[in-house]
Amino acid sequence: MQSDQQKLQAILDQAVDHARASTERGRVAHYIPELAKADPQKAGIAVTLDNGETIGAGDWQQPNTIQSISKVFTLALCLGTLGDNLWRRVGREPSGSAFDSILQLEHENGIPRNPFVNAGAIVVTDAILATYQPKEALGEIVRFVQGLTGDDQIFIDGRVAQSEEETGHRNRALAHYLASCGNLYNPVAHTLGVYYNQCALTMDCAQLSRAGRFLAFAGTLGPNRQQMVSMKRARRIAAIMLTCGHYDGSGDFAYRVGLPAKSGVSGMILAAVPGIASIAVWSPGLDRNGNSHIGTQMLEYVTNEMDWTVFS
Ligand code: GLU
Repeated sequence: MQSDQQKLQAILDQAVDHARASTERGRVAHYIPELAKADPQKAGIAVTLDNGETIGAGDWQQPNTIQSISKVFTLALCLGTLGDNLWRRVGREPSGSAFDSILQLEHENGIPRNPFVNAGAIVVTDAILATYQPKEALGEIVRFVQGLTGDDQIFIDGRVAQSEEETGHRNRALAHYLASCGNLYNPVAHTLGVYYNQCALTMDCAQLSRAGRFLAFAGTLGPNRQQMVSMKRARRIAAIMLTCGHYDGSGDFAYRVGLPAKSGVSGMILAAVPGIASIAVWSPGLDRNGNSHIGTQMLEYVTNEMDWTVFS
């Protein structure tokens, strides 16, 4: 007779096997040269359960930069200090356009649609800088993520941050446009310097799934229920993940996977199964919306097999 854990392990193994057998793998992000080096054959998944145990399969222990998934952590930090005042500067609606789109900003007077598109995340980082110098802000972000994960080895990959800084014309354009609308309070270079570094936070799937526990367990961490983020804040962040976590692929992701989740262009995705588990996947090939193609397939497989959804 299989234990629940053995059953889950078998399903994770199958998810990776199916992923590896898939001929369509998506395309790795090329606009950040360091990310273009990733191998699209890689695929990993990790699940952290209520009892704090983490189970994984495939390349689940290979570290990667988390890219836009960092936006979840900076949002949590920022709402903690600024509270609802943040919503004067950023909206909470799905964007229906690309993650780095500038179009909507012009239509909406420099108020980004939500905190998970690049423009919105840049404003969130800028808001964190209201109380910290750039170096301190980064230290605060790293410590927060280390605290959530319970792992003080988590670091920033300086090469990836620099690679993005050198080629980040689109983000500079967004930041300057925000500044022209009066919605960026710090020098563009300061805000983007922190933003590129937060995107280069480096974790494997096991670490990322542990960092996401607060989203699955009402702001608490694991069996001892240490409250890291208030229950209300954790629930609200999860709501924005469900509606906006996959850019203009958010509807399709909700339809196929049915969980609050956030993707990053490195091919990682963090998803939360309320009250049950936190999941991280990685496979670098992206679909046309910039979300991991195989990563979404793995999540779809596991959530179907386990019957994990917020819609049951
Ligand atoms: N660092 C990336 C950028 O700003 C993050 C985008 C993403 O992961 O979706 O372009």
